[in-house]
Amino acid sequence: MMRQFELVEKVKSYKPEADEDAINRAYVFAMQMHGSQKRASGDPYFSHPIEVAGILTRYKVDSTTIVTALLHDTIEDTDATHEDIERLFGEETARLVDGVTKLTRINFDSDSAKQAENFRKFLLAMSEDIRALLVKLADRLHNMRTLHFKKNPESRQRIAMETMDIYAPLAERIGMDEIKTELEDLAFAELNSDARKSVVRRLEFLRTQGGDLVERIISELQAKMFEHDLIADIQGREKSPYSIWRKMQQHDVGFEQLSDIMAFRIIVDDIDDCYKALGIVHGAYRTVPGRFKDYISTPKPNGYRSLHTGVFGPENHRIELQIRTKEMHEIAESGVAAHWNYKEQGSVDAAKRDGPQYRWLRELLEILENASNPEEFLEHTKLEMFKDQVFAFTPRGDLISLPSGSTPVDFAYAVHSEVGDRCVGAKINGRMMPLRTSLRNGDQVEIVTSKAQTPSPTWDRFVVTGKARARIRRFIRMQEREQYQELGRSIIARAFKESGNELTEKGLRGIVKNFAQPSVEDLCAQVGAGHITARAVLEAVYPRLKTVDPSDKVVPISKTKQQKGERGDGVSIKGLIPGMAMHFAGCCHPLPGDRIVGIVHTGKGVTIHTIDCEQLAQFQEEPERWLDVAWDNAAGDDDSHHVARVTVTVNNTPGALGDLSTVIAKNGGNISNLKIIDRQVDFFDMYIDVEVKNVKHLSDVIAALRASTAVNVVERARG
Ligand code: MN
Repeated sequence: MMRQFELVEKVKSYKPEADEDAINRAYVFAMQMHGSQKRASGDPYFSHPIEVAGILTRYKVDSTTIVTALLHDTIEDTDATHEDIERLFGEETARLVDGVTKLTRINFDSDSAKQAENFRKFLLAMSEDIRALLVKLADRLHNMRTLHFKKNPESRQRIAMETMDIYAPLAERIGMDEIKTELEDLAFAELNSDARKSVVRRLEFLRTQGGDLVERIISELQAKMFEHDLIADIQGREKSPYSIWRKMQQHDVGFEQLSDIMAFRIIVDDIDDCYKALGIVHGAYRTVPGRFKDYISTPKPNGYRSLHTGVFGPENHRIELQIRTKEMHEIAESGVAAHWNYKEQGSVDAAKRDGPQYRWLRELLEILENASNPEEFLEHTKLEMFKDQVFAFTPRGDLISLPSGSTPVDFAYAVHSEVGDRCVGAKINGRMMPLRTSLRNGDQVEIVTSKAQTPSPTWDRFVVTGKARARIRRFIRMQEREQYQELGRSIIARAFKESGNELTEKGLRGIVKNFAQPSVEDLCAQVGAGHITARAVLEAVYPRLKTVDPSDKVVPISKTKQQKGERGDGVSIKGLIPGMAMHFAGCCHPLPGDRIVGIVHTGKGVTIHTIDCEQLAQFQEEPERWLDVAWDNAAGDDDSHHVARVTVTVNNTPGALGDLSTVIAKNGGNISNLKIIDRQVDFFDMYIDVEVKNVKHLSDVIAALRASTAVNVVERARG
C-alpha cells in the first residue's frame, strides 16, 4: 500500500505547486471514515482509494483529482455526507466526489434496491467534469485488478461485462489507451479465460521460437534511421492477449510468428521527422496495401495522432508501424489527462476545454440541454460506443443495456427469461405501448406479465436480441409440435374408426417411412399441420381402401326408393331422377337444413350444391341442368353426419390450435380434415372440415368458435 508521504511526493514530482495539505487531510479523512472496512482481498478498504489515487499520478492529474480519488467512496460507503466533504475540502471537490458517486450508482447490482441514476444523469455526471470520469476509470481499473478476489462468479461476470461494454470504450473515447487495453484484458480474463490462456500459451511458445527477432527488427529499423541522420526511439511491443484474440476473431486468422502480434513504434522529435521517418520506411521496404493512415493531418475524434503503416520489413516480416512525436505518444497513452492540466485552485482553462478530446462531451451536454427528443439526442451525439446500444431502466432504476432497435420483449428477456415468457404488455415511461415498439435511450420500461401468457410467434418478427429469439423459437417449436401431434392423432383415430378399421401403434410405425417421417409422433404432427391427410395414412396402413378423391363421394342412389336419393346412412334428397348418381359438392358441403339445388352432369349424375354456392355461377346460362331438390329430413335429426367446411382466421399464437379443436369437440363436432392456407405474422388462415349433423349444429359450432379468443374470423366456406 502506498504511504501518505509517497503519494504526496509523487504528486509534487510532476506538480510542485500541488496542494499538499489537502492531500494529507483527504488521506487521513478517508482512512478514518473507512475505518475497519475490508476489501474482498482481505486488505483494509482504505488501500483501495490510495491505489486509485496512485493510478492517477501516472496521468499527472491535479491535486483536486487526487483528493477526489482518495474520497471517492466515502459518500457511497461510509457515514460521510456531501456537506462534510464540502465543509472540509471545498465545493469543487464535493461536486467531483458527487460526480463519481453518481457514476458508481449506475453500476449497482441489479438486485440492489437503491435507485440508479438514469442514463441522462450518467452522461451529465461524466460530462460535467471529466475529472470525475478519470477517477471512475482508475477506480474501475483497480477493481478489475483485484476482481479475482471476489467470491461470487456472477458478480465477477457482471463487473467484467460492464467493463468490456462501457468502461473500456469510455477510456478509448477519451484517448486513455493504456487504461483501455488493461481493462479489456482483465475483463477478457474473466469472461473467456480459456481463450485468453490459449493466446498466452501461444505467445510464450512464439517467444521461445522467435529468438531475438524483435531485437533484430528494431536494430535494423534503427540503422535505417541512422543512415538518414534521423534520431528516433524505436520500440517493439506485444499486443495484448485480448487485442490479438479480437484480431483473430475478426479476420479469422491465427498468428504464426511474433511479428504478427508485435506493434512497432518510431518516436521522433517533431512532425517533420514523422514524415521523414515514413519516407525512410517506405523507401526501404515494400508496403502492405491499405495499411497507411495519416492521423496527423486528420486526428481521430479522441485527439489521437500518429502515422500508421504496414510493410514487409526486416527479413521480410510483415510488421505494423506507428510513427509519432513524443507529445503525440504521451497523448496516445494518457489521452485527455495528458493535456488537460488544471490550474491549482480549480478553475478550468476554457480554451483547453475546447480541445478535441472533450469537445464530444461538451457537445453532448449542449445536445442534452437542447434536444427535443431522445432520438435526436442520440443521433447527434455520434458516440460510437453508444450508437448501437440503447439504455433503458426498470421501474426500480436498474440499467438494462440492449442493442439498438430492441423492444420491450427484448427488455423483458434481458431482465429474466421468465419475465420474457410471461410478458403481455409494456408501459414505456408510464404509458401502455405495443410490444413491438423500439426502445429509446432513457426509457423506463415496466413489463406487464401474466401467468397465462406464453411466448408468441409474432414476437420472433421484431425481437433483436439473440436471447429473446432463441427462447421464443424454442418454445414455439415445442408447442406447435405438441399441438399438431395431438390434433393429428385424433384426426387419424377418427378416420380409422369411420372406415371401420383398427388403428394400432404398430400399424402406424410400419408406415412412417412411406411418408419419410422419423417417428409416429412426427407423422401425427404432419397430419395435424395438414401436410398429410388422415386418409392417406389410412390407405397406407390398409392399401385395399384406396379410392378416388374422398371429398367428392359418389353415392349410388337406391333404385328401390323412387323419387328419392338416399345414402346408406339414411340421408335422402327429394326431387332426384331415379337411377341417377348423386354427389355432395366438395365446394360448399351442403348440410341438412341448407337450401339446396342439383346440377346435372351428363353421364355422371347430380351434384348437390347449396343455393348460395359460388360455383353455381358457372351454370347460370344452362337452366336445363338445374334440378330442384330438397332434403327429405331437413332437420337431419337422425344419426347421420355431414362434412361441412369452415374457413377460420386464427391468431398465430401457441395454444390457438388446441383451443380451436377443444371448442369444436365440446360442441359435438369432429374435425375430419384441416389445412393451413396462409400463414401471416399475426394470424393464419385455414380451412377445417368438420362433421356435423345439420345446419343448426354447424351454426352452434361456428358461434362457439366466434366466442373463442383464439379465433378472429369464422365463415362457412361458400365454394
Ligand atoms: Mn471505489
